[in-house]
Amino acid sequence: MQAFGYTKVEAVPAAVNAASADSKFIAGGTTLVDLMKLNVEAPTALVDINGLPLNQVEKDGDGGLRIGALVRNSDLAHHPLVAERYAVLSQALLSGASPQLRNMATTGGNLLQRTRCYYFRDTNYACNKRKPGSGCAAIDGFNRMHAILGTSEHCIATHPSDMCVAMMALEATIHIQGRTGARAVPISEFYFVPGNTPQRENVLAPGELITHVTLPPLAAGTRSHYLKRRDRASYEFALASAAVVVQVNAGHIARARIALGGVGTRPWRSIEAERALEKEAVSEKLFHAAAEAALRGARPLHDNAFKVELAKRTLVRVLKLATSNA
Ligand code: SF4
Repeated sequence: MQAFGYTKVEAVPAAVNAASADSKFIAGGTTLVDLMKLNVEAPTALVDINGLPLNQVEKDGDGGLRIGALVRNSDLAHHPLVAERYAVLSQALLSGASPQLRNMATTGGNLLQRTRCYYFRDTNYACNKRKPGSGCAAIDGFNRMHAILGTSEHCIATHPSDMCVAMMALEATIHIQGRTGARAVPISEFYFVPGNTPQRENVLAPGELITHVTLPPLAAGTRSHYLKRRDRASYEFALASAAVVVQVNAGHIARARIALGGVGTRPWRSIEAERALEKEAVSEKLFHAAAEAALRGARPLHDNAFKVELAKRTLVRVLKLATSNA
């Protein structure tokens, strides 16, 4: 690990002013400290934001929810408003990591999780995300955990978060503070696919801070569910997961929001699946059609072709769970 400076701040303006192009904000540190030990991340300074007043979950003025960036994953999962109204988010959070990690990891940090690609985390290997232009060891290497949607010839890394998949289906908005002001970005526009620049993962400019996330209110009768498939029952990343937020009226799907995890280079919203579902009568045949639509653009490699069928089955299953008795 390289030597770094350390500053602790107590207010958002001080945090933003203390940041530089080569510094990082640190909260729970559950990703960043690991990557610093591996020399994958080498910030010149850490700005400790644990003292900022961003740890509340509150009702928003429009009937939605406002989640501070420092709310810990376990607190968010068990918050009564989340468990009651946004079950998909609670389920996604509780399927991630371990209890100890969830007690430390924050909402803002979870949004900025880096990939678990083995080659990204090992500086002995070529990796365009870690060192632009160096190549991608995963494309011809062992790529069982890698993405099948949104990939490029420069990077096939999977986005690792469960929480972000649920937030994608919930159409969250991410609120950002920079030195020149605040802005709000829909989560659907927050992440980039790798393209030619896999080192650029999201819209944050250097020194910008995520302050909070807002979730819109859900219409009465909306159901939501998250389902994760993985190699073992706990403390494991998704091979495939699906988040569904669906409104059913008189046996027909009035509105559907669908996102997939474990298969995309970013938390993967499937507009194709949503279009296949909306205004149609609930049926198993319809769910299979939606799953086909969601995976139509998949580009599997030699070790991860199984994810295509696994993701389809996961989505069909979670649609059944979300619409049962509706
Ligand atoms: Fe790096 Fe992406 Fe290739 Fe993994 S898949 S080695 S993160 S460029």
